[in-house]
Amino acid sequence: MVLNDIKSYVKELKESYKERIAILSDAPKLSIIQVGNVEASNRYIKNKVKDCEEVGIIADVYHFENDITEYELLSEIEALAPFYDGVIVQLPLPPHIREKAVVAAIPSCKDVDGFHPDSPFPPATPGGIMKYLQACEFDLAGKDIVIIGRSNIVGKPLAAMMTDADATVTLCHSKSKLSRHLYSADLIVTAVGKPYFLNCYPIHVPVIDVGINFDENGKLVGDCFNTEGRDVTPVPGGVGLLTRCALLDNVIRAKEMRSLKHE
Ligand code: NAD
Repeated sequence: MVLNDIKSYVKELKESYKERIAILSDAPKLSIIQVGNVEASNRYIKNKVKDCEEVGIIADVYHFENDITEYELLSEIEALAPFYDGVIVQLPLPPHIREKAVVAAIPSCKDVDGFHPDSPFPPATPGGIMKYLQACEFDLAGKDIVIIGRSNIVGKPLAAMMTDADATVTLCHSKSKLSRHLYSADLIVTAVGKPYFLNCYPIHVPVIDVGINFDENGKLVGDCFNTEGRDVTPVPGGVGLLTRCALLDNVIRAKEMRSLKHE
């Protein structure tokens, strides 16, 4: 099932995004809101800005200090939103700010991260995984899929998307009897966030590794280790690249939808 050249596929997708932007009246605009200074968030934001620049999306980053109140942050989002096609707030947020309140403050038609239940956009990570499977021509219909990790941004929405594509999905978590479920899977998606988590299980089916972790030497690794000879998506350079594409796709779509409305 492996897509041998993810990088070429990403290049192809980005070319198609450039073509879509070229026929718009003006460039799509994305605002990226960051609170505090989490190192991983800095890196994710840098990549998002770079991707946007590459395809012709205008990306503005608004950085707020860690001590901003929830009320102030919600007011800032409300003030910024009218000027953008898409608005994203980089997670995680400091503990005194409720994620739910922040997501609710973003107009659903601009929620290009797809976190809001009424957002018309698929969440980027599951969207990227679906793009990957599509590119591999992996037909989900009738397949038994095990997803490990039930977060609201990965596992749960991915389970819904795969179910819609006629797969039978088992959504596992920290209390699941994992070995039993893995045994009968046709495809495994791991989104646990523990380096080498899947190593202790004998696995003979393709694995999509969503994990982004750092090992004891500070090296970026997924949830799987020793992937040689096994059908496992690499980390880095795997489905994370398609997550990034899925966000670009959503921003362009948000602009296309607004343009249609104003025609
Ligand atoms: P999360 O912490 O919200 O969820 C982790 C899930 O793993 C939970 O549902 C938990 O029940 C499950 N889990 C923990 N221990 C387990 C065990 N022993 N057995 C079975 N299940 C177990 O994490 P998240 O936000 O969904 O992220 C998961 C990983 O995916 C992280 O490494 C994160 O960095 C990465 N991630 C990657 C992308 C990408 O684009 N590639 C996007 C989002 C998250």
